[in-house]
Amino acid sequence: MGTATVIDGKALAQKLRQEVQGQVARLRRDERMTPGLAVILVGDDPASGIYVRSKAQQTEEAGMRSFVHRLPADVREEVVLTLVRGLNRDDRVHGILVQLPLPDQIRTDVVLQAVDPAKDVDGFHVVNIGRLAAGIEGAMVPCTPSGCMQLIKSVRPQLTGQRALIVGRSNIVGKPMALLLLAENCTVIIAHSRTFDLPGECRQADILIAAVGKPRLIRGNWIKPGAVIIDVGINRVDDASDGDKKRLQGDVAFDEAVEVAGAITPVPGGVGPMTVACLLRNTLLAACRSRTIDPSDL
Ligand code: NDP
Repeated sequence: MGTATVIDGKALAQKLRQEVQGQVARLRRDERMTPGLAVILVGDDPASGIYVRSKAQQTEEAGMRSFVHRLPADVREEVVLTLVRGLNRDDRVHGILVQLPLPDQIRTDVVLQAVDPAKDVDGFHVVNIGRLAAGIEGAMVPCTPSGCMQLIKSVRPQLTGQRALIVGRSNIVGKPMALLLLAENCTVIIAHSRTFDLPGECRQADILIAAVGKPRLIRGNWIKPGAVIIDVGINRVDDASDGDKKRLQGDVAFDEAVEVAGAITPVPGGVGPMTVACLLRNTLLAACRSRTIDPSDL
């Protein structure tokens, strides 16, 4: 075992969920209000099904209402849009999440932009992306980058001047992650599939976030000694000890990186649990904002 601190995402997520649970209980008692999260699942992708079940279970455990809408894989776009519009009007629903990916006949952008920005707990609506980019208060921050920020800050509270490299430029992870790190005064670089010399870029990073979807892309000898490594990647690979089984692996070669880094998140048990905890917190925030309640008063 190396010298890096292994960041316990499960424990941090549990702490955040408990905080949310306490605030929800006080909201129910003092304001007679129960936050509600609606999740739309289209089709029968097994991984999406597992994520949705887990989100619904954790929503209920936090004391909130969970509404899961399952639609068949061949559903028409208009049907999904009608459902979204209905949820936008439903007072019991404070957060709406559309589980991705959607089948090909449905335009993801059209569906995501139909969600009321005030209920957009995933933070994918252009209004929320714009607020985040412009530094305007009240943005719903996407859950995975928001969780990553908390994991980073758990080991490095002061980020000013740190050189942060994000590998991956998706709208869901890479781009909002860059905005959050910039807001913390990091010097931010975004790498992607066309970056020249990715190992060289990685070697200069004080904070490295891998959000690619390629198992063990980032090797131990690419890492600056003492760096904070956040591994967002979730890759299903064959289990060496049992060829029939799959196991989860990150984008970083953990066994190598742990020898060099200052701190690193494991996969599983790092970013994944924090993502769901941040979704619950966003739902609580959306509920509070619908009645101009300050969540810090709860
Ligand atoms: P996308 O596929 O949308 O984006 C992948 C990014 O990686 C792209 O910007 C792509 O570059 C870049 N990339 C691909 N190959 C390379 C390479 N060889 N070198 C450098 N960059 C490369 O993925 P997502 O952002 O949606 O997800 C990334 C990973 O994170 C996945 O494994 C996903 O499962 C996981 N994930 C985990 C979550 C969690 O809660 N833990 C939540 C969301 C995602 P280009 O733009 O040039 O194509």
